[in-house]
Amino acid sequence: MYRQTLKTVIGIVASFIVALNSLAPAASAQADGKARSIRGFSDATAAAEINWEEKMRAIPKPELLREYMKHLSAEPHHVGSAYDKQNAEWIRDKYKSWGIDARLEEFEVLFPTPIERVLEMIEPTRFRAVLKEPAIPEDPDSGDANQLPTYNAYSIDGDVTGQLVYVNYGVPADYDELTKLGIDVKGKIVIARYGASWRGIKPKVAAEHGAIGCLIYSDPKDDGYFQGDVFPQGPYRPEQGVQRGSVMDMPIHPGDPLTPGWGAVKGARRIAREEAEVITKIPVLPISYGDALPLLRELRGPVAPESWRGALAITYHVGPGPARAHLKVAFDWSLKPLYDVVARIEGSTYPDQWVVFGNHHDAWVNGADDPTSGQVALLETGRALGQLLEQGWKPKRTIILCAWDGEEPALLGSTEWVETHADELKQKAVAYLNSDSTGKGWLNVGASHSLERFINEVARDVQQPASKKSVWEAMKEHRLQQARSDEDKKDLNERADLRVSALGSGSDYTPFLQHLGIASMNTGFGGDGGGGVYHSIYDSFAWYTKFGDPTFEHGRALSQVNGTIVMRLADADVLPFEFTNLAETMGRYVNEIEKLKVRPKREKDVDLTPLKSAVKSLGDAARRYEDALGRARAKNFEQVKETKALNEMLYQSERKLTSETGLPRRPWFKHEIYAPGFYTGYGVKTIPGVREAIEEKKWDEVQPEVKKASAAIQALTSQVEAAARLLEGK
Ligand SMILES: [Zn+2]
Repeated sequence: MYRQTLKTVIGIVASFIVALNSLAPAASAQADGKARSIRGFSDATAAAEINWEEKMRAIPKPELLREYMKHLSAEPHHVGSAYDKQNAEWIRDKYKSWGIDARLEEFEVLFPTPIERVLEMIEPTRFRAVLKEPAIPEDPDSGDANQLPTYNAYSIDGDVTGQLVYVNYGVPADYDELTKLGIDVKGKIVIARYGASWRGIKPKVAAEHGAIGCLIYSDPKDDGYFQGDVFPQGPYRPEQGVQRGSVMDMPIHPGDPLTPGWGAVKGARRIAREEAEVITKIPVLPISYGDALPLLRELRGPVAPESWRGALAITYHVGPGPARAHLKVAFDWSLKPLYDVVARIEGSTYPDQWVVFGNHHDAWVNGADDPTSGQVALLETGRALGQLLEQGWKPKRTIILCAWDGEEPALLGSTEWVETHADELKQKAVAYLNSDSTGKGWLNVGASHSLERFINEVARDVQQPASKKSVWEAMKEHRLQQARSDEDKKDLNERADLRVSALGSGSDYTPFLQHLGIASMNTGFGGDGGGGVYHSIYDSFAWYTKFGDPTFEHGRALSQVNGTIVMRLADADVLPFEFTNLAETMGRYVNEIEKLKVRPKREKDVDLTPLKSAVKSLGDAARRYEDALGRARAKNFEQVKETKALNEMLYQSERKLTSETGLPRRPWFKHEIYAPGFYTGYGVKTIPGVREAIEEKKWDEVQPEVKKASAAIQALTSQVEAAARLLEGK
């Protein structure tokens, strides 16, 4: 589910910022004969760790990544399909063959599949939409049997007829523009283009404005011929290519709609479908630009504002009508089985401290890119760890490697697993690492900022593919090239660490981070080469091996990065959490909120002073912790008596950033710093309770949310201070 539009990726890359690190050990430090230090390791344990990590990084092989992908993407493998289950069993058996204990964990979830899909124009001319992606000879998998038809999962059943209105991306700002144009969508069917927000936002906002149906199409300007040659000549979306995808209201909660907040195990209590909050209010259907063109051509009314115009050879009008459409969709709402694969390496010293790493295995169709490219990199990390175990490596902490089912519909496999094991995970989970689609380019990282320095350190120790540089150096160079302002360049050149982005949603880290407060990371390579086959039948082995990462060298680099992350977290004497970067980043978020252009009538409605002083205290505690860590490290942690308690305190620190009651109107989301936006979907909102209250002008809500977020930051500060005292042996 992870791939964003090209524009978003470029935007994210450009906004990532960096710099030279004076604190972390440079990979070259070995050359001058000095022992290398790694954050959280003593001299002796660092030497052993470096040795094991180097062995690990030599193991992943591009040809095996390719072989696994060929197998896993050979047939459509959506939730409930025969090949989905077969893939889960195949992954489990691979782990077993590498000497790693692995099992399937099953759940039963609501996953609708289409029974009927009709879209026709009845006025002013007649046209019936094709709603079918044709097989093409260059891509043998495009003709596979058992493909899931083009549809949006968790659209409600419906049969509606009405005039069409073009609503651009269908985000709230577009409806403000429609109001200015004097156009109302009440009783109409809206046609929105993909992009600018997560797709589930489009029918939600349309329904809020009184629309009775929603079509979502892929405009060639966004991921088709305007961007480059279309598949099979190039990587972009062909005329009849359709983006499937979920439209569940996931900013309320992800996971099974019938078991919100608890695990969907067999026999679990389930609410009625009518009570489920997250199913759309109006019927929704995704279409190709081939099917959209005849409809858009029959719209009149005002000419669409310039920024609304796509790349079809028509003058874009807003409507309403005269085009009138009939949309009918009906679904099979039966429960379907999920098969998560859970592999486990028991820790030798702290078996009850868990490092968890996952990538989904289900796809909309064949899914070579999404998710198989990331899944095969995880498998090679697993194989490498299996070999190290045979050679005598004993990780201190338990490592759990997961292949999630049902990510595409609604992060089902990860959410149900997290909800089922919530109590144990809250106690034991050190961190969660996620990956999903990956391609050619540079390492992209989103993460909890308490792990920002750690990730920077890891990125310095892995080689960028086809380069003499480290992954870190390549990232920095690329970000400098992409930097849009002098301020960004200065930040890149002067800051010790490259910035990592905050996590919103769009993949399986969400339940770990935002429901339980487990520090999380999401990694993948990308940015070099685009594409437009996302969630279509053309996301195939043929596409990936021509346009994705044909040599699988970037896939191997991802195995190496993620393997290093997992090993270092599993082996550290003192877990490598770091809080000065977190405090500094939170300070930036507070500044952003202060600069929001929405101003209350009464100044006292927005007082951010408590947040500012909480962030300042966190900064002070963070520096004290760093000093204490430096002194303890100089003595090889010998005076640290309560290492187990110290580590628990460190990995529990992220939990302090959650609140019992969660965010307004969506209590499932408990993290006070990171959440997907209520009206952006995947896009992150930082300090979301406060930020969204201001953006949505809910003035009564601002100060209570400021209080909640400040209390969470204060609780973290106390924890960091307590950890510093333990390091000082007090
Ligand atoms: Zn995915």
